[in-house]
Amino acid sequence: MSKTLFEKICDREIPAEIVYEDELCVAFKDINPQAPFHVQLVPRKPITMLMNADAGDQALLGHLLLTAPRIAAAGGYADAFRLAVNNGAAVGQSVFHLHIHILAGRPFKWPPG
Ligand code: 5GP
Repeated sequence: MSKTLFEKICDREIPAEIVYEDELCVAFKDINPQAPFHVQLVPRKPITMLMNADAGDQALLGHLLLTAPRIAAAGGYADAFRLAVNNGAAVGQSVFHLHIHILAGRPFKWPPG
């Protein structure tokens, strides 16, 4: 199977500004930022979307959620940041490799649009 876009970024086959990485995940600046701080946190494992994660991914998903605040904090946004996961094209998913948007640095509306 061909690699996803985000696998290629993880493997450094496509350039991106990587801000964090470990054995399970990689975080890089979004190419089209929607906030002053907009980072994608992605598992190295190419899960297509959250719906397709399974029980075997429990530790990985926990790791992502524990890592995201540290990335926000490293960017200077420990106190206020938003995490978003789009699951499915109808709600805006355009890259079918699970990713957590980490957004910060401007006011955010609720509910989100
Ligand atoms: P989605 O719409 O799937 O929830 O989010 C995909 C995100 O990936 C978008 O915010 C988009 O700007 C970002 N993105 C798409 N292609 C690239 C790329 O080649 N490099 C980087 N750094 N971000 C990308």
